[in-house]
Amino acid sequence: MPNMAMQKNPMPSQSPEERQHNYLEVALGYTPEQAIDEAKRCLQCKNHPCVGGCPVRIYIPEFIARIAQGEFEEAYQIIAKSSSLPAVCGRVCPQESQCESKCVRGIKGEPVAIGRLERFAADYHNANCKEIPEKPAPNGHKAAVVGSGPAGLTCAGDLARMGYDVTVFEALHLAGGVLVYGIPEFRLPKAIVQKEIDTLKQLGVKIETNVVIGKTITIDELMEEYGFEAVFIGSGAGLPKFMNIPGENLKGVYSANEFLTRINLMKAYQNASHTPIQRGHRVAVVGGGNVAMDAARCARRLGAEVYIIYRRTETELPARREEVEHAMEEGIIFKFLTNPLAIDGDGQGWVKSIRCQEMALGEPDASGRRRPVPVEGSEMDIPMDSVIMALGTSPNPLIKATTEGLETQKWGGIIADEITGQTSREGIFAGGDAVTGAATVILAMGAGKNAAAAMDEYMRNK
Ligand code: FAD
Ligand code: SF4
Ligand code: SF4
Repeated sequence: MPNMAMQKNPMPSQSPEERQHNYLEVALGYTPEQAIDEAKRCLQCKNHPCVGGCPVRIYIPEFIARIAQGEFEEAYQIIAKSSSLPAVCGRVCPQESQCESKCVRGIKGEPVAIGRLERFAADYHNANCKEIPEKPAPNGHKAAVVGSGPAGLTCAGDLARMGYDVTVFEALHLAGGVLVYGIPEFRLPKAIVQKEIDTLKQLGVKIETNVVIGKTITIDELMEEYGFEAVFIGSGAGLPKFMNIPGENLKGVYSANEFLTRINLMKAYQNASHTPIQRGHRVAVVGGGNVAMDAARCARRLGAEVYIIYRRTETELPARREEVEHAMEEGIIFKFLTNPLAIDGDGQGWVKSIRCQEMALGEPDASGRRRPVPVEGSEMDIPMDSVIMALGTSPNPLIKATTEGLETQKWGGIIADEITGQTSREGIFAGGDAVTGAATVILAMGAGKNAAAAMDEYMRNK
């Protein structure tokens, strides 16, 4: 008999009072009993609409059925057929707009907690399975991957499993892309990402950090001088946007990427860390997406009074609802219908305040959202010590500028075939945020997977 409870089993979590003072994971994960109870909410629909909502088509009812029977490792093995990062996706996928949005249990009540169950199975596997993957027999071909985010790691892993000699080149000193430098520890513990990277190394993948492709070495040199037969570009979209308002070069103004990199990658949140970061005081985060929520919640944990400054209303916030609720519970103050005009300094080069204007919602714009329009005479100065700009990012132009014949969109995205990732240059494939602009982990992973299959075909037929 299915469990017909209307609500999902709630996720055990740290209380808001506790968690705003630490960086430990907020969501603690289901117990085996909770996982089995939640799995029994699945109706095992014959046409399984949930699968259509998952970009990598995980066999959702099958893995959930195994959890319902207490066969947790078997559940993991079913997920692993379609996804190489289930412990990551189970935590950070926007499930509410993907698999869970299609679940029939969501018509009357809450959908089955597919993401939480995926996380449960992956965590069970990581805690209980110590098997070291066998290194596949080499097939004599050599491939390079640029960038070690979810797109690059997935592509590298799939190619290594097929016997390719794969080297990943990463600009930063640690592999993992946004998973290590962007998404905070309290949402995605870094040990989980490290475990995935260790598995790739056991498969024979070589990871060269501190190598900026386009500066240290170019893609053309990799192919012509170092014998890489095919290259996958998974360099992401890490170039931050600014508002181009006065005062953005004052000390205390950060892009969200820089702020999060200092905290997550360079451990500025640890008291013993030598990474400079402004602590305490008043911090404004400009923007309303997931990145803004992450930056605000990190600043809060450094002891600041944090304001989210957003020019539309709560209804239009692009961030995941769960992240907004967590931010509100942690005491972050939302200033809606507010738009920055300038950042004012204290005369010593530091931020003193942010000058803003009240907005009202006008007619819908091309995106269908109501356009914010300024309210005359509503200017105000809000005292601040730091301002973090979380307004979006685009791909860095370095790779295009240094790779002969590589075509890009006007906004910088690499032009690549939607399925194969084939670019305008033979032997060069691309996927993830470098192609789509800022998107999601699961889409980047799917692109890496598809490109690995296409690269395999290309190298075998060459
Ligand atoms: P990235 O993860 O950006 O990795 C690209 C890698 O390439 C980086 O390590 C970079 O250093 C490296 N690189 C760049 N240029 C070069 C070069 N020239 N040479 C060598 N290496 C290079 N998505 C979700 O699904 N859920 C979330 O909750 C979520 N939260 C997010 C929070 C933040 C703060 C941010 C910034 C993004 C978030 N995203 C989230 C989006 C998601 O992380 C990205 O869509 C995803 O990481 C893209 O993967 P990727 O592999 O294409 O690129
Ligand atoms: Fe849902 Fe993401 Fe898992 Fe797919 S990978 S089933 S979209 S949580
Ligand atoms: Fe189970 Fe929901 Fe998928 Fe139906 S749609 S199989 S209830 S997860």
